[in-house]
Amino acid sequence: METEIINIEKSGPDGSLSAKDLEALKHCGEIIKEGGLVAFPTETVYGLGGDALNPESSKKIYAAKGRPSDNPLIVHIAEWGDIKKIAADIPVEAKMLADTFWPGPLTMILKKADIVPMETTGGLDTVAVRYPSDIVAQELIKAAGGYVAAPSANISGRPSPTQAKYVIEDMDGRICAIIDGGEGEIGLESTIVDLTVNPPQVLRPGFITNEMLGSVLGTEVETDKAILDADSGLKPRAPGMKYRHYAPKGDLTIVEGESSEVVNKINELLAADRAAGFKTGVMACDENEKLYDADVVMLTGPKGDQKAAAHRLYTILRSFDDEDVVRIYSESFAKDGFGAAIMNRLLKAAGHKLIKC
Ligand code: AMP
Ligand code: MG
Repeated sequence: METEIINIEKSGPDGSLSAKDLEALKHCGEIIKEGGLVAFPTETVYGLGGDALNPESSKKIYAAKGRPSDNPLIVHIAEWGDIKKIAADIPVEAKMLADTFWPGPLTMILKKADIVPMETTGGLDTVAVRYPSDIVAQELIKAAGGYVAAPSANISGRPSPTQAKYVIEDMDGRICAIIDGGEGEIGLESTIVDLTVNPPQVLRPGFITNEMLGSVLGTEVETDKAILDADSGLKPRAPGMKYRHYAPKGDLTIVEGESSEVVNKINELLAADRAAGFKTGVMACDENEKLYDADVVMLTGPKGDQKAAAHRLYTILRSFDDEDVVRIYSESFAKDGFGAAIMNRLLKAAGHKLIKC
């Protein structure tokens, strides 16, 4: 299949969509309505979109990604009221969270309505719903009829794409079109909160933290224990969280501890890898750039800047692939606030390989 690459220029007033952009998005919406797949930018990562109410489209999404079909898709909407058609029960908490965080990087799990095919929900009787804030995503969803199922637009297991070039790398020839709308602001997938349980529970951490959810809901919100402890033997309640994920091709290890000890430990490991003939890489904060003796050092931003680190994480992991790095070491991040999401993705990318100094 020939994949169309569509550039959205945002050349209207103040970076808004021009008439030409809207025309192109209309065309992409038609592709989705006809059962085709289109990758598109969001404020989190690029999504691989198909008609959420068409079981054949969902099957095509699983095939294009090589994703196990028990791993459900998030349904994207572009208007709060549209939730009524796909959710059988809308608790008051859903409205409270939507009023504060939508449009934005929050996905809510609700009881599904019959109209949502089991192919979209991976056989579950619940549906994941998100209303993204990116205007390109919103216009595409509207043009596609209002309900777009979209997992991240990567081959299953690889880091989620934050730029169109990485979508092209994974999806060229597999889908009808790829919309290039620049780089997403957040860089990590949405927070997933399950509203079918009481109190609501976070199934995947993201930019919207447990504290932010708790302060709106007036209750403490906890994270699914299965994803906090890889050795717990518990089954994650978001099926996708059980798979190895976000991984670069090279072998990634996280090193945790006091800063100077981490630097020493990583340099010791690098020396051994170099002696063995491996190309090496390090992911470090800006301040530590010069301290590592590696072939490639990628910077996550100023120490403690969680937004910068999240924004760069997947690009860095993909860049190590671009440079054919075989052994990669990463400094660790604090787990408070947005850091919980960064460490969740980094640990999965490393297959939970972590050295404590
Ligand atoms: P991705 O589309 O790559 O961002 O992954 C979507 C994530 O949402 C996966 O981890 C899914 O398992 C999770 N998910 C989607 N729908 C549901 C649902 N109904 N219940 C629980 N988790 C869900
Ligand atoms: Mg994904």
